[in-house]
Amino acid sequence: MMQAQRLGSVRPSMILGLVQKARSLAAEGKPVIDLGIGEPDFTTPDHVKAAAIAAIGADETRYTVVPGTVALREAIRGKLARENGLDYALSEITVSNGAKQVIFNALMATLSPGDEVIVPAPYWSSYPDIVAVAEGRPVIVDCPQEQRFLITPEQLEAAITPRTRWLLLNSPSNPTGGVYSRADLAGLAAVLARHPHVHVLSDDIYEHLMFDGHRFASILEVAPALKPRVLVVNGVSKVFAMTGWRIGYAAGPQEIVTAMNTVQGQSCTHAGSISQAAAVAALTGPTDFFAGRARSFEARRDIVVAALNAVDGIECLVPEGAFYVYPRCAGVIGRRTPAGEVIGSDTDFCRYLLEQHFVSAVPGAAFGLSPHLRISTAAPAEALRSASARIAGAVNALT
Ligand code: PMP
Repeated sequence: MMQAQRLGSVRPSMILGLVQKARSLAAEGKPVIDLGIGEPDFTTPDHVKAAAIAAIGADETRYTVVPGTVALREAIRGKLARENGLDYALSEITVSNGAKQVIFNALMATLSPGDEVIVPAPYWSSYPDIVAVAEGRPVIVDCPQEQRFLITPEQLEAAITPRTRWLLLNSPSNPTGGVYSRADLAGLAAVLARHPHVHVLSDDIYEHLMFDGHRFASILEVAPALKPRVLVVNGVSKVFAMTGWRIGYAAGPQEIVTAMNTVQGQSCTHAGSISQAAAVAALTGPTDFFAGRARSFEARRDIVVAALNAVDGIECLVPEGAFYVYPRCAGVIGRRTPAGEVIGSDTDFCRYLLEQHFVSAVPGAAFGLSPHLRISTAAPAEALRSASARIAGAVNALT
């Protein structure tokens, strides 16, 4: 087989596999409600689309510099200063094809074989696999529902070794919607202060989707002294509903950003020039719709959480941000479907939900903490109500 050794421990994306299956059932005419994918159901703002069209008209269609156009990095610098109180030079900012490639570049640029990366579980499913592609070793730390799916300072302390390079932090979290409070972050920062070799990759992509009146806090806001070893990662996919445009960015220590640009310069060169122009419009344009979107996701969260908590066998914590709920489904494990199949895992449960009740959700196994399932709330309220009713029906049909 012509496959590189470094791909040995990389799993194909379970989520993309499920999406494929849901789509083929829908193509057969089945009434599928797809709550599998993490994608906002809004559309890209009109002024952003107009900026892209204008960029095409103005022939902004040539190669740009590797880290992203000066205009875009200026816009990112402005955003980080205005919204996060962070001050970065243009040379400390880099743009890539989505936050996913930003993270890929960062890990490819900094990991040597066997270097360790602390990944609190449940995690965004790509984290351990990107670490594996970069020949690092993901150190998975279980963070169950009882601790609101967040890593504790004690767990962090215990996971650090001389080989630790990074802690991957994601708040609000995909898949749980969990949010680190200022106090939580201060606790982690105190541990990090004792281990100056550990860096933090702060994935802030859901920062504007915060609920219940809470304000987003990044670890740098709480512990500015960590700035020489924090890489702030963000992007336009989620809050501007621009997933397909593929623009993400990072700001951080010069040495790391320069190394990331080296990786990028020998792979994709840069993100698309039209998408970069669109992202300038997004990051310098109106932001007054953020709050309305967050409220909309909050209302949909409430529908799903209430409906699922009424189902015997399912327990759902109330997420504080993002657009996912991550209910525990321990109560369905070991039960039998009407066809006589035993539900042995969350993967079995999600397969049953999709094949028999046409609701697509992702098993907790994809995010490193079972038995759970991730349900995306980025769907119309009516679809969420129907899906919740189908899940209740599916569970009630088990014996
Ligand atoms: N980080 C997290 C936590 C995510 O959920 C996602 C998207 N699912 C990304 C990064 C990547 O987003 P993109 O590549 O579209 O910017």
